[in-house]
Amino acid sequence: MKIKRKTLFWKLYPSFLIILFISLLTIVMIALWSFKSFYYQERAVDLEIRAKILTPEFSRLIQSQNYQEIQIKAQKLGDESSTRITIILPSGKIIGDNKKDPATMDNHKNRPEVEQATRYGKGLSIRYGHTLSIDSMYFAIPIMAQDKIIGIMRTSTPLYTLQNALWSIYYKVSLGFFILIIITAFASWWMSKSLVRPLEIIKVQAQRLAKGDFSSRVQLSSNDSLESEQLGQAFNEIAIQLNQRIEIILNQRNEQEAVFSSMIEGVIAVDSNKKILRINQAAYKILKISEKNIEGIKLKNVIDNIELHKLILFALKQDTPVRQEIIIHNNAEHEQVLLAQSAPLLDIHKNKCGTLVVFNDITKLKEFELQRKEFVANVSHELRTPLTAIQGFSETLIEYPDLAQEKRSYFINIIHTHSIRLESIIENLLTLSKIEKETEVDEIDLVNESITIALSNAIFLCKDKALKRSINIILNNAEDIIFKHNSSLIEQAIINLLNNAIKYSNGNSEIKITVTKQEHDIIISVEDQGSGIPEEHLSRLFERFYRVDKARSRELGGTGLGLSIVKHIALAHKGSVTVNSEINKGSIFSLILPLEQ
Ligand code: ADP
Repeated sequence: MKIKRKTLFWKLYPSFLIILFISLLTIVMIALWSFKSFYYQERAVDLEIRAKILTPEFSRLIQSQNYQEIQIKAQKLGDESSTRITIILPSGKIIGDNKKDPATMDNHKNRPEVEQATRYGKGLSIRYGHTLSIDSMYFAIPIMAQDKIIGIMRTSTPLYTLQNALWSIYYKVSLGFFILIIITAFASWWMSKSLVRPLEIIKVQAQRLAKGDFSSRVQLSSNDSLESEQLGQAFNEIAIQLNQRIEIILNQRNEQEAVFSSMIEGVIAVDSNKKILRINQAAYKILKISEKNIEGIKLKNVIDNIELHKLILFALKQDTPVRQEIIIHNNAEHEQVLLAQSAPLLDIHKNKCGTLVVFNDITKLKEFELQRKEFVANVSHELRTPLTAIQGFSETLIEYPDLAQEKRSYFINIIHTHSIRLESIIENLLTLSKIEKETEVDEIDLVNESITIALSNAIFLCKDKALKRSINIILNNAEDIIFKHNSSLIEQAIINLLNNAIKYSNGNSEIKITVTKQEHDIIISVEDQGSGIPEEHLSRLFERFYRVDKARSRELGGTGLGLSIVKHIALAHKGSVTVNSEINKGSIFSLILPLEQ
């Protein structure tokens, strides 16, 4: 059960009240007691004096045994001095009393004041008097004659006047006491409140601080104590410091977050319990994680790829960095190559508490590497074919100097053809690498001029070849479009497309060059009525050395680099090239070039 705790005010205030009540009560009690005893003492002294004054008179009368005179005297003196006077014989018999007839009064020998007077020379008692039936103070002294006690002189006074006076004092003191209690209750309430007030203010501000409101400041009034003021100042200092530190931490976190989320590399931090601690956007993308906010979730619930899972578990077990390539099969066709590098995560005590894995998607890099290898293999292969022929036939010519003239001419012709082929391969390769290099460093020279120049030049250079095969080249150029381009490169691209169109067309046909202008692009299409290209080859047509029919291409003097050059020229203009083809109907190659560079 939860105990309801008291507030500081309810701890202080009742304690104050109790202490004040007890203190005041004690003071009042002591005062009243002192007052009462002072009052009683005064009365006792008064009674003693009166008794002593009257004693000689009554001593004489007792000695003369004049009891009647004693009664008359007692009556007179007692009434005159407003004091009850009682004359008692040592036997206890009353011989004079101004308040009652002595004959009717019982023996007083055992009255405490009488006994004390007989024994000690004086006696005082405060008690209920049976004779008068009231509370009275009695004082008694012995009446002496020749050193013998011959009687007891007793003076007494009723206490009701005294008690009335005392009660009146009690009443006033009690009233004063209650007024004081009320005043001190208010004073201690105010004191408790003013003691607790600064703490209350600091408590409220501390709660606001705990909720993240760092602008809160403690403001105390000048009535509050110096300690409270210092406490408030210390609190404000803490709030300012905390605010500054949190701001620094937040800024650092934001910077880290910015770096973390803008990284191209995927980063994932996993703790020893295989729970994901942090993951950045790139990792979500690279690892194809569709769930959001996976931090704190177990690895196996989020990453279902076995290779990846294995790698992270392996990295978790290692104390040294791990570097590994993994292939992820996303689906049957698409595979992703990741380079994962891990490093152990250390806590502040330098103990291993997890692992940090950085992923790089190197699929593209791998593709490039593969393409490069293929390219090197293709180049070697393409160059070796004519070289082997040249080498073989030239060796035959050297070995057999007496070879018939006809054969010699045939061999020399072959050597010549292959050397031309070698030259065109090398020339095409050089062209390609030049365009690639210039595109990379953005060095392609673009001039704002009419497209017709490049087109006319290309047609002019290919015309003879076309005519030889009875092919007509038609130019459909409705308007003279002027835009920024590299005329000689575009001319080269059109020549390549025209050459292909001529090579792969049957005789007696047409090649149409159409120029159209769209909102943002200019499209130059070269359309032939040739053999067409099977669809499965279209996607790879622009790769280096890719040919649909290798033998036919070689026969026609092709290098397999023509379309690749076209593609790179288009890319150099930030454009593209497309192909549409239908078997036995023809093909359309389109260069799409942006009007604005
Ligand atoms: P090549 O030097 O072999 O012509 P290209 O890169 O210019 O090399 O062309 C690649 C391949 O594309 C050619 O081998 C040919 O099979 C095919 N091709 C290109 N243009 C045409 C076309 N207009 N009609 C039919 N096939 C073509």
